[in-house]
Amino acid sequence: MASATRVDLDGKPIKPLTICMIGAGGFIGSHLCEKLMAETPHKVLALDVYNDKIKHLLEPDTAEWADRIQFHRLNIKHDSRLEGLIKMADLTINLAAICTPADYNTRPLDTIYSNFIDALPVVKYCSENGKRLIHFSTCEVYGKTIGSFLPKDSPLRQDPEYYVLKEDASPCIFGSIEKQRWSYACAKQLIERLIYAEGAENGLEFTIVRPFNWIGPRMDFIPGIDGPSEGVPRVLACFSNNLLRREPLKLVDGGESQRTFIYIKDAIEAVLLMICLHLVLLAYNDDNSSQENPARANGHIFNVGNPNNEVTVRQLAEMMTEVYSKVSGEPTLDVPTVDISSREFYGVGYDDSDKRIPDMTIINRQLGWNPKTSLWDLLESTLTYQHRTYAEAIKKAIAKPSGT
Ligand code: NAD
Ligand code: UDP
Repeated sequence: MASATRVDLDGKPIKPLTICMIGAGGFIGSHLCEKLMAETPHKVLALDVYNDKIKHLLEPDTAEWADRIQFHRLNIKHDSRLEGLIKMADLTINLAAICTPADYNTRPLDTIYSNFIDALPVVKYCSENGKRLIHFSTCEVYGKTIGSFLPKDSPLRQDPEYYVLKEDASPCIFGSIEKQRWSYACAKQLIERLIYAEGAENGLEFTIVRPFNWIGPRMDFIPGIDGPSEGVPRVLACFSNNLLRREPLKLVDGGESQRTFIYIKDAIEAVLLMICLHLVLLAYNDDNSSQENPARANGHIFNVGNPNNEVTVRQLAEMMTEVYSKVSGEPTLDVPTVDISSREFYGVGYDDSDKRIPDMTIINRQLGWNPKTSLWDLLESTLTYQHRTYAEAIKKAIAKPSGT
C-alpha cells in the first residue's frame, strides 16, 4: 500500500521524490517500479524502449498509483528529452545497458557503447544540474579472482583473502583484449571511474551498485516465446527454457564456474534503502540538522549479493532440475545435463569469471542490509512463475508444425 504518512528515521513524514528511472522496463527496473508504487509515495518517470514488463503498473490507468508513474518511450542514445527529464527529477537511477554475456564477445561495439558512451550524457546531466545519481554497474568489474591464478593444488585457494571481492580493496582482473567477453566489464569499470571522478572533482552525489547475479521472475526472455528463438539469455532463462522444453541443461565448459545468486526481492530492499537515505538527506536539509545519514549511501560503491547462496553452475542446474520437477509435477530427464564448450555455446572470445563472493562489510555498515532468501526458496518461487507463465505457450509452440 502506498503510504503518504511514512516517516523517516527522525519520525518526520517522508517527502515524496521524483525519480527518473532509465531502463525501467527491464528486469530490475520492473521490480523497482513495483516496489516504489506499492510501498512509497514516490513518483517515477520510467524511461525505456520497451514497457512490456511494467504494463501491469501502467494499465489500467485507474490504479491507485496511476498519477505516480509515467512511461516515456525513448532511446537514450539519441533523444533530446533526456536532459529535461533528469532536470524534472530529484534522483536519477540508470539501469539501461546491454548486459547479457552472449552479446559481450559477439557485439562488443554495441556493448561498449551501451555501457560507457550512452551512459556519459546521463552522468553529465546529473553533475551539471546538481542531481543525485544511482548508477548500476556490475560485479563483473572484479573480473577473475586472484586465487584463480594460483596453482590448482595451492592451499591459498581456500583462503578468502584470495577470492572474496571487496569494493575498496580488490583489483579488477580482466583477460586479454582478444577475450572480448571483458568488453562489458571494462566499459562498466570506466563509467564507474568517471562517476567517481565527477564526485571527487565536481561534487556529483552518487551511489554505484554492483549486482551479484540477481535472479527472479521476469528475468530476460524465453527464446522463441517472448524473445528471439536464436537468442541466448542469462543462465536462469537458459536453464528455464531447457526445463520447459524438456531438454538437457547445457553446462558451458563443464559448469565449473561458481556464482552466488540473490533473490531479486531481497536485492530491491537494498536499493530502496539507498533511495530512502536520500529522503533522510532532504528532510535533514530542511531544518539543517544532522548530515550523518546521507553519507551512508552517497559516494559509496555497494556489492549487492548473497554470499550464502554459492553454487557451481553444475550444482545450479541440478537444483533447478529438482525444483522444477517439484513445481511442475513432471519427472526429471534420465540425462538432465549435457556438457558444451564455451566456443560452441558463445563463440570466439568468450571467457568467464571463476568465482564471485561479495564482501558485505560496506553495505552492512552503511545500510544495515542483509539478504534473506535461500537458493532453494528463490528457485521455487521463480520456477513456479516460469511454469505458470510459459508452460502452455511452449506446449503450443512445440505442437505447431514447423514453418507455420
Ligand atoms: P535488463 O536488460 O532486463 O534491463 C535493461 C533495460 O534497459 C532494458 O529494458 C532495455 O530496454 C533498457 N535499455 C537499454 N538500452 C537502452 C537505451 N539506449 N535507451 C533506453 N533504454 C535502454 O537488465 P537488468 O538485469 O534489469 O539490469 C539492469 C542493470 O543492472 C544493467 O546496467 C546491468 O548491467 C546491471 N546488472 C544486472 C545484473 C543482474 O543480476 N540482473 C548483474 C550485474 C549488473
Ligand atoms: N551458463 C551455462 N549454461 C547456459 C548459460 C550459462 O553453463 O545455458 C554459464 C555461463 O558460462 C556462466 C554462468 O552460467 O559461467 C552464468 O552465466 P550468466 O549468463 O548468468 O552470466 P554471468 O554470471 O556470467 O554474468
